[in-house]
Amino acid sequence: MSPFRFDNTYTRLPRLFYSKQGAAAAPAPKLVLLNHALARDLGLDFSGMDDAALAALFSGNALPEGAEPFAQAYAGHQFGGFSLLGDGRALVLGEHLVPDGRRVDIQFKGSGPTRYSRSGDGRAALGPMLREYVISEAMHALGIPTTRSLAVVGTGQAVYRERPLPGAVLTRVAASHLRVGTFQYAAAQGDPALVAQLVEYALDRHYPHLKNEANRGLALLKAVGERQIALVTEWLRVGFIHGVMNTDNVTISGETIDYGPCAFMDAHDPTTVFSSIDHQGRYAFGNQPRIMLWNLARFAEALLPLIDEDGDKAVELATAELHALADTFEAGWLAMMGRKLGLSGSEPDDRALCDDLLSWMTEARVDHTNTFRALAVDGMPAGAAFAEPAFAAWQARWHARLDRQSGDRAAAFEGMRLANPAYIPRNHQVEAALAAGTAGDLAPLHRLLEVLADPCTERAGLEDYAQPAVPDGRAYQTFCGT
Ligand code: AMP
Ligand code: MG
Repeated sequence: MSPFRFDNTYTRLPRLFYSKQGAAAAPAPKLVLLNHALARDLGLDFSGMDDAALAALFSGNALPEGAEPFAQAYAGHQFGGFSLLGDGRALVLGEHLVPDGRRVDIQFKGSGPTRYSRSGDGRAALGPMLREYVISEAMHALGIPTTRSLAVVGTGQAVYRERPLPGAVLTRVAASHLRVGTFQYAAAQGDPALVAQLVEYALDRHYPHLKNEANRGLALLKAVGERQIALVTEWLRVGFIHGVMNTDNVTISGETIDYGPCAFMDAHDPTTVFSSIDHQGRYAFGNQPRIMLWNLARFAEALLPLIDEDGDKAVELATAELHALADTFEAGWLAMMGRKLGLSGSEPDDRALCDDLLSWMTEARVDHTNTFRALAVDGMPAGAAFAEPAFAAWQARWHARLDRQSGDRAAAFEGMRLANPAYIPRNHQVEAALAAGTAGDLAPLHRLLEVLADPCTERAGLEDYAQPAVPDGRAYQTFCGT
């Protein structure tokens, strides 16, 4: 008996794209979190299973019928340097067919070493897996494409980082785990037929309407580019910093993936970096669009042999597409900012109106989330910073812009409240919930998940969840490969 309806297509690709591999045995698996809402959404019925059976399932100790676990091979530019990689601590259990027709990967993270583990132990610690669960579910509630988190199980085995930590397995759900790095891996084999096979697979799985395009390579570049643009624009809307935008973490589906060193910024500042290893600020908040376009250029390189047989012609076509995508981003960003500021229609000065607010916010060091939320509540943020003449001057321009458009201000503010959340996963709240959770008290984590499940509706009694951390002189830091 299996709660899943597995139908695996990835393992029909040539053998070099994956390696079949079982999960390591967990000595004492214990269910920590199960996402009931997601289970319902995926048509998964766990009602006949007790906690022990669920722990056995989500640790990999008891393989469900039809599961055919495998690790995927891929490559990637990590902080600009190219490496051959692969799932070093992840296994796809299978592709589940959702009753509504979707196909999703069910993947374990932290289930033990694979052929691609290199020097890693293949394991994950409980704290970081709970962190991925909270932040990915918050992203989903914010309306941002993302992988989801179905379950977290403690393994009963210690993992060794700087000190022994409780081990865990996260079960992640993704539209697929195809990434830019998968195409780079195919291209690195030196056989264009492999890239062509992967393109067919990606089109079948994510872009079936493009199957009849004359130039499928170019069509895929454009489609993936548009989804990545939509995604990164959404990150910018909510102040999200992914933290490790390596090409192996850029999905073909356009979902956010790999919640390692990510975090939300408090004070608005494009140079914000949380990752302990990002010394150059390569993946800083404001650098994300540029890096996204850089990653798309790496994607284009992998696709070149398919774009045209003539190498020069292929580069010319790909370059033109990348330029068009850069323009698409600019237009999309302005549209997103228009939603944040309640603008309808467009005026020549809109770009300056947005840029000037963000520059002022950076200088005044005001909270990203709370500033936009206050603008959305009544257009009048409170606090000393907002009494500055520079802000008043901007506000007068903005109000004049709102007065020139049709529809009343109340309607504009109502729309703004959907674009500007009241609640994001505040770093100190996340840390407090994880500290309690890893010590065995899950109540603060459940409470946080409940708050974040409805981010745009302000509720009485949740004021603490809308506050940035009190600065204590130490900058918040996040970590990769935890
Ligand atoms: P990330 O930056 O988290 O996407 O990871 C980059 C690569 O390192 C991927 O191929 C991961 O599978 C691998 N990796 C991360 N942590 C571990 C670990 N503990 N053991 C083995 N491989 C790992
Ligand atoms: Mg990764």
